[in-house]
This record gives sequence, structure tokens and C-alpha cells, in this order.
Amino acid sequence: MLDEQKIRADFPILSREIHAGKKLVYLDSAASSQKPSVVIDAMDHYYRHSNANIHRGVHKLAEEATDLYEQARKKIAVFINAPKQKQIIYTRNTTESINLVAQSWGRKFLKAGDLVVLTQMEHHSNIVPWHMLVAQLGIRLEFTRVTPDGKLDLDHFKQLLAQEPKLVGFTHMSNVLGTINPAKEMISLAHAAGAITLVDGAQSVPHFPVDVQDLDCDFLAFSSHKMLGPTGLGVLYGKLDLLRQMDPFLGGGDMIKEVKFSGFTPNELPYKFEAGTPSIAEAIGIGAAIDYLSELGMDSVEVHEQNLLTYGLERISEVPGVTVFNADPRNKGGVIAFTIGSIHPHDVAQVLDRSGIAVRAGHHCAQPLHEVFSIPATTRASFYLYNTKNEIDAFIEGLFAVQKYFMAG
Ligand code: PLP
Repeated sequence: MLDEQKIRADFPILSREIHAGKKLVYLDSAASSQKPSVVIDAMDHYYRHSNANIHRGVHKLAEEATDLYEQARKKIAVFINAPKQKQIIYTRNTTESINLVAQSWGRKFLKAGDLVVLTQMEHHSNIVPWHMLVAQLGIRLEFTRVTPDGKLDLDHFKQLLAQEPKLVGFTHMSNVLGTINPAKEMISLAHAAGAITLVDGAQSVPHFPVDVQDLDCDFLAFSSHKMLGPTGLGVLYGKLDLLRQMDPFLGGGDMIKEVKFSGFTPNELPYKFEAGTPSIAEAIGIGAAIDYLSELGMDSVEVHEQNLLTYGLERISEVPGVTVFNADPRNKGGVIAFTIGSIHPHDVAQVLDRSGIAVRAGHHCAQPLHEVFSIPATTRASFYLYNTKNEIDAFIEGLFAVQKYFMAG
């Protein structure tokens, strides 16, 4: 069990007041999480005490900065159970990690007519990089259907696998439906069909234990800023043989072993994929975030969010006119996307904001998924380890007020 009050005291921003004295109720962690003091302090300490560029210097500060930066890589490897540290590539975010796979693996190993299978519940960041390969190489894309109750249609998935795709990419957990896909089973089916697998872990790695060896995924992408760490730092995990075969993504300093006027020799892993001065303080920040999450235990984080979700789904069903997209708490993370009658989702979010309640409205970078449900937008409340049932009560009270305000008019 998480100690709610102790955890909340670790997050300075949670004691902020909004709109003249309203208590902040932050229900937008699926977009970006808040940061505990240990993360803010680790980054602050780095800038005050050890700030220098990494790898290239021989002086004390450069050595300290390099150590801290590489220690964070080790923490990430342990956190997702990667066999080796060099399988952890630092990027800027999940989006860049997926683009890296599309450009470095896709452009080398895919050709015109090859099939990539995605799902209808993907975030734009796991659609557009593949659209770009359609334009660049002439590959084909197919999207596994989503059922009306917001689950992945596994029969359709199997039908698509029968077409022998070269790569299967899917989100571990939908940022709109909250649906947690059966990743291990899907990966095993994809491998049996001869495909390599890319898991978008942007919404899974922050919220429940993810073990890359157990999943047997070929690639896993995720972002620091959704798991208590800073923005500007993403991760790509990859299997060694694949990473070794791939060409560099970006060119420049650090990713080379040798440069001549006639060409270059790429560096060893993981540096082959890390061109230019990286996000050093941010790597140190995610290291601190991982220490914090590990101390709490990801199993406990998962249980806490599951309790919040079950409670939230129960309570929201009391509000007249609400439609929740995937209202089944089983295999679902702490995300509730909904509409209230014909009230515009932005209006819902704006009225809630006046009470200090932060939710998101729009297509949440999953426009094709909203098209499947024939709606332009939803309002989304999302939970994390620092949220409480009292906050859900405040949110529901806010929804009743929205409902009354618009329905009465
Ligand atoms: N994939 C999923 C499922 C997401 O929820 C997000 C962000 O909302 C992303 C990818 C993109 O993450 P980032 O913007 O950090 O690259």
C-alpha cells in the first residue's frame, strides 16, 4: 500500500493553489507527470556541482558528469530488466525512439511492398514515422482493429499476421482507452509469423512492471517525463543483434569512432545512436525518478492506480449522460476518456479547470482512434501514484456541475 500523504508531500507542485485558492487536482499525468523533489534536487545538484560535458573531458567535473549519466543508464537497464546497459539508447522522447527504429531499422531492412502492422489505438508517434516510410520506401501499413468496447481485436491481429508482416508495432497501453494490450502473447504471435516487434511503452513503463526479457520484445520505447522524470529524455531499448545491424540515426559528435574527409566509422553501442551533446541533467533526473519508483515498488504503484481506476469508473457512471471509452477496469490502466452528451470536451475541461481540476481534452494525439468511435474529441482524466480518491470525488463533483450547467442551458 502506498502512503498517500507521504507521497504527496514529495511533490512540491501538488500543494499549489489554482484560480484564487482552489486546490490543484492534477489528473493529466498521461500527458506528463509531476516531479518529486528528489528529481528536481538531483538535477539542481548536478548543475550546481558537477556540470560539464560528458565523455570528452579528462577533468574532474567531466568525469563526474559522465559517471552520473552512465549510472542512470544502468538504473534504466535494471528497471526494465535489459540484459545489458548498452541496449539502453538515450533519445529525446518516445517519439524520437520510434523514429529511430523506423529510420535506422526500417530504411535498412524494409522495401517497397513490405507490410508493417500497427493498431488503431496508436498514438500519432507510432503512426506517422511509418507513414513517412510509406512515402520513402513504398511499404504497406495495416491497422489491427479496435472492438466497440475498446479492446484490440486479436482475431483481426492474427489475420494480419497471416500476411507475414516484417514489423509489428503496438502500444502496450492506450493513452485514450487505457486498454493494456496482451503484449507477451502478441509478441510471441508476431515472432511466430516472422516479424520483429516494437512496443510503445510510453504509458506502461511508468505505471506497472515491464520486463523486456519476459516480454521478449525487440524494441521498447518510453519517455522520462511520464514517469516522474524531466522532459527531453526518452529511451529506446533494443535487442543487441538488431541494434548492431542498424545504421546510425543522426550523425555528428560522439556517435563516431573515427571521422575522415572521406567518411566515418560509427561508434560502439549505445553511442552509435547518441549524436551530439545529450540531455545530461535529464538523464540524471530519470535516474532519480527510477530510484524513487523502485523504492515504492512498481507492483504497489500498479495496485494504487487500479484502485483509483475502479473507484473512478464507478463514480463517473453516476453522472448522467456520460460515455466512457472502455469502461471495463480489467486490463486497463488509470485513464478515463469520456464524453458527456453533446457537451464539447473542451468546455468540460475548461469548467473543471475553474475548480482547479486539470484534465485534458482533444484527440490526445490519437486522431485515427477517435475516428473509429466517430467522435472528434474526448475529455481525459488520468491518474498516477500521487492521486487520491478524494481527488476523484472532486472531479466527479466537477462533472455534476458541468452537466447541470450545460444541460440546464
Ligand atoms: N505513445 C503514447 C502511448 C503516448 O501516450 C505518448 C504521449 O502521450 C507518446 C507515445 C509520445 O510521447 P512523447 O511525446 O514523450 O514522445
